[in-house]
Amino acid sequence: MTITPLSQAHLTLLETCDRKYQYVFFDALSAPATYDQQLTTQWGNQFHLLMQQQSLDLPVAAIAGANKDMAASMAALAVAAPEVFQDAFKPLTDSEDSEDIKRFRQSEHRRTLAFNNYLLTVIYDQLVMTPEQGQIFDWKTHQKPPRQNWLQKDWQTRLYLYVLCETTELRPEQISMTYWFVRLGNQKQARPSSYQFSYSLVQHQQTEQALQALTLRLTQMSERLEFPKVPVGSELCETCVFNVRCDRVSGGTSVFDSAQMLREATGISLESVEEIPL
Ligand code: SF4
Repeated sequence: MTITPLSQAHLTLLETCDRKYQYVFFDALSAPATYDQQLTTQWGNQFHLLMQQQSLDLPVAAIAGANKDMAASMAALAVAAPEVFQDAFKPLTDSEDSEDIKRFRQSEHRRTLAFNNYLLTVIYDQLVMTPEQGQIFDWKTHQKPPRQNWLQKDWQTRLYLYVLCETTELRPEQISMTYWFVRLGNQKQARPSSYQFSYSLVQHQQTEQALQALTLRLTQMSERLEFPKVPVGSELCETCVFNVRCDRVSGGTSVFDSAQMLREATGISLESVEEIPL
């Protein structure tokens, strides 16, 4: 029997629309990314790589040198959050639970937790742990930070805190999660901004109940192969890339279906187009 991994992306979609979850995770459909989205993703990936290299004490000059904007973001983060750069990298070993290890720090740290026949999966951008404290750090590379109360309810925050609490000896109040908005943008402000979220037993219990409900519903829908759409008239459908597929738009054509139709009509994909010499 294979256990399905569940990340924050799965949980977010499940809470948004069951049918959308089916399209994305069962049918493997996705909308093409816009050029701006591709640029943002590329910047984010490179920044995460840069931070990982730094935490491993590997040279970062080549990456940082190629992108002055990114080098400035990392330098500003080092000033604003020196705790992120403290101490040499200490690898996770079999003796992680040994009392010898007083402080543990690792980038791209992955944890899993078996839960209700699923495998909850998280990857922390950086985790710093001592016997008394667990700090999760996440680098956000949006041009504009989202609202703090929105991020507090986001499944990334809830899942990341829950899994750390369940997989360590730490109590909820000993755990926190900090988002750093590392992209300085055009204003070149001196400091990146951050949100820090503490944790409590009540929040932990609420997250557990929400996870129980979502995973139970997912099991039932998967067994019946029935993933309901949100009710007709939902605002979600207005901007959803699957609104034509779901027959939830009149006359218009969604981003996904227009690109899909173009590919099907022409048989052309990005990979099949030859470069034209100039
Ligand atoms: S169009 Fe509406 S019902 Fe269909 S996947 Fe999107 S949100 Fe769900």
